[in-house]
Amino acid sequence: MPMSMCSRCKRLYPLGSRCEPCTSAGAKRREQKRKHTRPSAWARGYNSSYAKARSAILAERPLCSLCNLRPATTADHIVPLSRGGTNDQENLRPACGPCNFSRGNRTA
Ligand SMILES: [Zn+2]
Ligand SMILES: [Zn+2]
Repeated sequence: MPMSMCSRCKRLYPLGSRCEPCTSAGAKRREQKRKHTRPSAWARGYNSSYAKARSAILAERPLCSLCNLRPATTADHIVPLSRGGTNDQENLRPACGPCNFSRGNRTA
């Protein structure tokens, strides 16, 4: 059987197929990198309880509580999650996108 050498691990593998260990290791690395560079909103605490509280708040108070001009599309954390805030409705207020994003992690 004609053999070929892997450019990474220098192992011999059948010509026409790929070096299996290096191929799967590479796929794993790529996945880890993707997870690392883009932390999911989920990981930061925006989970189902947040989604639930947000829709409840937006149904109740459809106007942004920060500018009182634009319709609220997000729920702003009064105490940010990074400072120990929760996804409870008491810690959320309706905010439009521009207001919420400009505020970032600062406390009001
Ligand atoms: Zn290899
Ligand atoms: Zn606003």
